[in-house]
Amino acid sequence: MKNLKFFINRNPIFDRCPSCKDLGSLHKSRARNTKENIIKTFTIWKLYRCKSCGWRGYRSVIVLTSRSLVTLCYYFAIIALVAFIVFKVLTSYNG
Ligand SMILES: [Zn+2]
Repeated sequence: MKNLKFFINRNPIFDRCPSCKDLGSLHKSRARNTKENIIKTFTIWKLYRCKSCGWRGYRSVIVLTSRSLVTLCYYFAIIALVAFIVFKVLTSYNG
């Protein structure tokens, strides 16, 4: 359990544009309406716009890695094991 990082923060500014595949052409875009503003504020997707082709859309700023999924599984296994032991101890001493 060396890597306890579940999520990797990434900056979509360094991504390729999903439309024209241009590198480093994305920049943050302002929300045009309330719905966009809500999504931008409360989710991991932020609005971006491509300088080269004018593409505009949402890019996620957090990536869930496959390694992080394994780490999460370990966590759940440990929690389940601890819960099981605690349950066993409690029930054996109560009787
Ligand atoms: Zn583009």
